[in-house]
Amino acid sequence: TPVDQLTLAAAKQEIIPLKKQLTQWGKEYYEQDNPSVEDYVYDRAYQRLVALEQRFPELKTTDSPTQHVGGGPTTQLTKVTHDIPMLSMGDVFSIDELLDFNARQQESSVVDVDPEYNLELKIDGLSLSLVYENGKLVQGSTRGNGVIGEDVTPNVMTIKSVPHELPEPLSIEFRGECYMPKKSFVKLNQQREAAGLPTFANPRNAAAGSLRQLDPQVTAKRDLATFMYYIPEYQKLGLTTQSAALDKMRALGFSVNPNNRVVHNQQEIKDYVAEYTGKRDQLPYGIDGIVEKVNDLDTETALGNTVKVPRWEIAYKFPPEEQATVVRDIEWTV
Ligand code: NAD
Repeated sequence: TPVDQLTLAAAKQEIIPLKKQLTQWGKEYYEQDNPSVEDYVYDRAYQRLVALEQRFPELKTTDSPTQHVGGGPTTQLTKVTHDIPMLSMGDVFSIDELLDFNARQQESSVVDVDPEYNLELKIDGLSLSLVYENGKLVQGSTRGNGVIGEDVTPNVMTIKSVPHELPEPLSIEFRGECYMPKKSFVKLNQQREAAGLPTFANPRNAAAGSLRQLDPQVTAKRDLATFMYYIPEYQKLGLTTQSAALDKMRALGFSVNPNNRVVHNQQEIKDYVAEYTGKRDQLPYGIDGIVEKVNDLDTETALGNTVKVPRWEIAYKFPPEEQATVVRDIEWTV
């Protein structure tokens, strides 16, 4: 039944099991790295919950999956507090919705009409925080529930693309994505199958399961990689744009995805989305969409965040039929 035709009583009856189901799927995905349904199934149910809560705000509860980032930190790993929360991201499923998001954003007084946007690939891994003190890597952690994450410092030390020391004595945090290349994922699953071990559902879950290990020697044997994309305290480095922040991280020796593009109008946004929708299967790592960020960092700060997502970025998610082909395609390309 369309949400606008539901009575409050019917919505209430639907929303309780829906929240329970999403919470269960969230636990499997975020905490156990072992989802039982495809992402588009989760996304569809999540969108339904968002619609129900929008129509009947009185049914929105603080324990709703729409009000929380990820899952709880559940492993035996030490907990880490993120002073600047690590958030999730809003998403849209069509170009029209993406352009609508921009139009609404431009209605706010802080965003120019047709501002510069930085487009990036949405890497299908898990968020990673790296803290440096005087240029030395002192802490690596996962997002967890956004405020409390897991300390994975010794594990991160085993990832080749993570610099242990920077060319400048900076004391600052960098954020990005930890992922497993498609080929390494296929190889790992082959090895696990041969050893009679359960296989990982997709490269994202393999990356999460490999990073969130108690024994860093296990992580060291997994081929993990990183793409860094965010400097929360950009002011400390005198940066003014997201694209310059990416360049700065490249200069510091981080692995940064080379495919970001600064765009100025709708046509350029459409072209980028079309280009990477076409190229995604050929990339050696998984992407599940495209991220659009306001390029001006002070405008980002002025836009701020909701409890769960930044207002200055949005993910355009690839259509589900494409999502479903990813694993098949990997088998073809290896
Ligand atoms: P998300 O993973 O969709 O988006 C937010 C994340 O994108 C950020 O935290 C960051 O780690 C990442 N990201 C990748 N590239 C980035 C870039 N260039 N710039 C900025 N961030 C980038 O959001 P989420 O709330 O963590 O998880 C929702 C996703 O998890 C959905 O895709 C959903 O389908 C999936 N999920 C699936 C199940 C399941 O059972 N299959 C359960 C829960 C969640």
